[in-house]
Amino acid sequence: MNTITLKFIKTKPEAGNVKTFVFETGGLKWIAGQYQAYILPHAGPTQAENEHWFTIAAAPSEKEIHISTRISESPFKKALNAMKPGDTIQAHSLGGDFTWEESGDAVVFVAGGIGSTPFRSILIDRDRTMKPLNVTFLYFNRNDEIPFLDEFTSLATKHPEFTLIPIVGEKITADLILGRLDGRAHQTVYLSGPEPMVESVGAELKAKGVNLKQDWFPGYTDQNF
Ligand SMILES: Cc1cc2nc3c(=O)[nH]c(=O)nc-3n(C[C@H](O)[C@H](O)[C@H](O)COP(=O)(O)OP(=O)(O)OC[C@H]3O[C@@H](n4cnc5c(N)ncnc54)[C@H](O)[C@@H]3O)c2cc1C
Repeated sequence: MNTITLKFIKTKPEAGNVKTFVFETGGLKWIAGQYQAYILPHAGPTQAENEHWFTIAAAPSEKEIHISTRISESPFKKALNAMKPGDTIQAHSLGGDFTWEESGDAVVFVAGGIGSTPFRSILIDRDRTMKPLNVTFLYFNRNDEIPFLDEFTSLATKHPEFTLIPIVGEKITADLILGRLDGRAHQTVYLSGPEPMVESVGAELKAKGVNLKQDWFPGYTDQNF
């Protein structure tokens, strides 16, 4: 296992209990939407305590690694939240194919709450590299504290081809998604969020013939995503 050491730079508060932890890249090269595992040995002796997987919420062109997450009482999150500038984290196993497929066709993004991290990486990357954002983004949140909303809103203002549809306080269902797509259900749907939702809604969408890419976040449920 190849492990790299990343230096912590700063914390950035986002909406609600979401924070972004900013690290130097350590020379890491990634594709927007990918994830990796992180180790904080002092979080505890077991792997459940000291290792977590996170999407890199930053675009490669930002030249920083971002972990954006909801702060919880878990040992890992407590240790992450206590980091001071200059502290380090170990990272390994960069991977994942929840990345943009260059077909030229318009696509649909569907996020549940903090499941928006890969979409932040992809959208910022496409904007910075002057590519079109031909995306309809259905962005579900439990309440109106919506992570990255300002950034997504300014992208929508800048790119007329990008449609942002925030949906607050509604249960995420296949019928609601298809109802909001208004004839775009033939487009590839990228679905990211709490694992139980991505499993159940993903299965329903597939059964209805939708071409689907999925990204599952364990540790989140309908109650805390
Ligand atoms: C490929 C991939 C990408 C991911 N990307 C992201 C991402 O970008 N952002 C993100 O936030 N998550 C992401 N996740 C999920 C992430 O790995 C965590 O599972 C998730 O953030 C929950 O972590 P947690 O430490 O809060 O809870 P867990 O450790 O999973 O525990 C679940 C719940 O139990 C509670 N708990 C656990 N241990 C204790 C304890 N000792 N005392 C009290 N309470 C406890 C926690 O508060 C939490 O509510 C990703 C996962 C995968 C696999």
